[in-house]
Amino acid sequence: MIAENLKKVEEKIAESCLKSGRERTEIKLIAVSKTQPTELIKETLNCGVIHLGENKAKELRDKAEILTGDFVWHFIGHLQTNKVKYVINEAEFIHSVDSIKLAEEINSKAEKLGKKQKVLLEIKTSDEATKFGLESEKEIFETAEFCFSQNSLELCGLMTMAAYTDNEKIVRRCFSRLRGTIEKINARGIAISELSMGMTNDFEWAIEEGATMIRIGTAIFGDLHRAGTTKLN
Ligand SMILES: *Cc1c(COP(=O)(O)O)cnc(C)c1O
Repeated sequence: MIAENLKKVEEKIAESCLKSGRERTEIKLIAVSKTQPTELIKETLNCGVIHLGENKAKELRDKAEILTGDFVWHFIGHLQTNKVKYVINEAEFIHSVDSIKLAEEINSKAEKLGKKQKVLLEIKTSDEATKFGLESEKEIFETAEFCFSQNSLELCGLMTMAAYTDNEKIVRRCFSRLRGTIEKINARGIAISELSMGMTNDFEWAIEEGATMIRIGTAIFGDLHRAGTTKLN
């Protein structure tokens, strides 16, 4: 099942790349393995997936004890400062830095490990009230500059979750806002390039809007674990 799902995802990625004149190698496919049993995750790794994403700190830590091999962990969920300790050892990328306080804690824990932690800033690009992320330009620039100046942080880019809707215009606006934001940060002398955007329902639009990391759960693992969630329009 996983192999077949991955094949379909890869076909869609290829199509979107073709449509937007991009190369497949510009895009990292992160298989979002949250709530999935390790057996299924192993199957995914056997299919050649090399990026795994988790959104709960302890879940990442626990899975990292069981799963070993040549792949990279991405922490993509909301992170509380007191839980940095659970992800700092294993996560190559932390996508969800949304405050200077959190960045400070990550920097301090990374310093103790002698590690340079790769981070992305989570940006709120939709008007939905419940989403996490930095919102005002002032906040975004201050946090970017802070991360950029820390010895044990490597600021790589920005992450967002688009509005949860089928409305193409609204979703694309979220992605183009993220691209606009990284350009403004670049213009301030901070050269970062990763755009982590696009999930099962919207990754094709995300690729067309410049995504360099797409985070896909349901399209790879199936939607067993999402029974009960309905998509609003
Ligand atoms: C769950 C999750 C995803 C993947 O969502 P799907 O719609 O299942 O592809 C991506 N990003 C984040 C932050 C998530 O929590």
